[in-house]
Amino acid sequence: MQSLKEKIISEGRVISDGVLKVDSFLNHQIDPQLTFDMGKEFASYFKNKNVTKVLTLESSGIPPALTTAMELGVPMVFAKKQKPMTMKGDVWVERVFSFTKQIENEIHIGKSFLSTDDKVLIIDDFLAHGEAALGLASIVKQAGAEVVGIGIVIEKSFQEGGRKLKDAGFDVLSLARIKSLTNHTVEFIED
Ligand code: 5GP
Repeated sequence: MQSLKEKIISEGRVISDGVLKVDSFLNHQIDPQLTFDMGKEFASYFKNKNVTKVLTLESSGIPPALTTAMELGVPMVFAKKQKPMTMKGDVWVERVFSFTKQIENEIHIGKSFLSTDDKVLIIDDFLAHGEAALGLASIVKQAGAEVVGIGIVIEKSFQEGGRKLKDAGFDVLSLARIKSLTNHTVEFIED
């Protein structure tokens, strides 16, 4: 997605060889038009998969997941990292290792929001080692529903997540694929 790549080049900051900071449009401040266009791209690619629900993980997955769900005309569900007092009873729980915080978190989804006939499109902001996407996919499986695709805004292809998701048989669309972040420079894989 050309407009996304241009935004990464102009506003992204390489924090280290493994981490990119994009707080000005994806992870803190949000660019509404760019996020809307991401939704269009995901929806167009997965439009024949009969998606019934878009699933993501709070908080940075929510904006692109929402615009994708809007475009597909289906609900969006986000997994919660904290289990609120109001979330009682039937909850799916999975343990996910957080790349940015380097700790294991529990993620929670109310059982009433996933059913056996759901066809789920997972959306997330970044793909590093695949923990978040695989954790969400594991809950979808526990619920007896089906993952029909995974959409990622920024894939760091030099980390192992992309390969893990493809090896597991998932149809993955990444809107920007980064080959390297070395020398404080973003290098993309050209499509
Ligand atoms: P994974 O679970 O694939 O190892 O990592 C993906 C998750 O970690 C994403 O949900 C994202 O929040 C965070 N993440 C991974 N790499 C980066 C990065 O380079 N920059 C930022 N801002 N977040 C990242």
